Amino acid sequence: MKRILVTGGGGFLGSHLCDRLVAQGHDILCVDNFFTGSKKNIAHLLQEPNFELMRHDVTFPLYVEVDEIYNLACPASPVHYQFDPVQTTKTSVHGAINMLGLAKRVKAKILQASTSEVYGDPVVHPQQEGYWGNVNPIGPRSCYDEGKRCAETLFFDYWRQHDLRIKVVRIFNTYGPRMHPNDGRVVSNFIMQALRGEDITIYGDGSQTRSFCYVDDLIDGMMAMMDTENGFTGPVNLGNDREFSMVELAERVIRLTGASSRFTFMPLPENDPQQRQPDIALASSTLGWRPTVPLEEGLRRTIAYFKSSS
Ligand code: NAD
Ligand code: UDP
Ligand code: UDP
Repeated sequence: MKRILVTGGGGFLGSHLCDRLVAQGHDILCVDNFFTGSKKNIAHLLQEPNFELMRHDVTFPLYVEVDEIYNLACPASPVHYQFDPVQTTKTSVHGAINMLGLAKRVKAKILQASTSEVYGDPVVHPQQEGYWGNVNPIGPRSCYDEGKRCAETLFFDYWRQHDLRIKVVRIFNTYGPRMHPNDGRVVSNFIMQALRGEDITIYGDGSQTRSFCYVDDLIDGMMAMMDTENGFTGPVNLGNDREFSMVELAERVIRLTGASSRFTFMPLPENDPQQRQPDIALASSTLGWRPTVPLEEGLRRTIAYFKSSS
């Protein structure tokens, strides 16, 4: 049994991770300031003797004793991370410094939830870990993209300078139950619009692509990464390598919900990446990991969740 800290544990991915770690019998400390997360996501865990919740903002120091740290605290949807962009950068950068300082003091292994956004609007396709990215440092997405890039820098400098055991995963678009219904991300938007019988809002002409990973697959990959041998740092891409355009996604959501919604086309947000698809060869060879849940099946489960919770 390990003592494991999950920052951002009240969020979408963090709450699924807590579920899995609690079920394995580990002693879990979930830390969250509930900026985008919700107590509802973890309410069912509060009765568990091996689960503890602490309201805390990771931009402030945290003194606890743990064996492993999963650092997920950070708003992930563009609507939320652009709401208070300075706080977003602080969360990524100061949050990483504090969690790395903690890991250094207690000699814990630490995993960073990085992102495909470190590749920006990529000119290399699909994206391999060796690609350095194409990121605007001063645009509306920069607080997130550059914050996450700086967090990666800090992880690798703590590794080089202090010999910390670090693990960095770059997560590509992930979806599933417990996404915030109003977080503005495309899967939750399309499903909520379809369920309400509203028009589906397609930004741009809908030809831009993303590759969508179901949450259970993603958590498998993250936990496999934490369990790799000490010398292995990553970064490792985690995501589904099936690529869909936003129009294709919208058509699937309409078919699976049986909605009669139509498309409305709206302006493409600034710096919106045109295409994104992970190369997952490294995850497959080092973690023995591949996503298994096809988009239609994952969408069915997510639609069922939004139906039951609305
Ligand atoms: P989320 O917004 O549901 O979860 C983030 C959690 O962090 C929330 O519970 C929020 O309240 C908490 N948080 C934010 N700022 C905090 C702070 N200063 N102190 C403490 N807690 C704070 O988003 P998610 O989709 O679950 O994302 C989790 C992590 O995975 C994030 O770091 C995100 O960047 C990364 N990620 C997610 C995706 C995805 O598609 N879901 C893709 C790439 C990377
Ligand atoms: N820190 C923390 N918990 C700990 C140890 C450190 O939150 O258990 C924070 C502390 O605020 C510090 C930061 O992590 O500023 C970086 O710590 P480190 O030891 O790397 O650097 P220093 O203390 O020299 O700034
Ligand atoms: N998008 C869209 N309609 C929406 C919300 C998003 O067409 O209602 C598009 C958005 O412009 C982007 C893609 O869907 O091209 C994915 O957006 P999301 O915010 O989910 O993630 P990210 O851009 O961070 O990959």
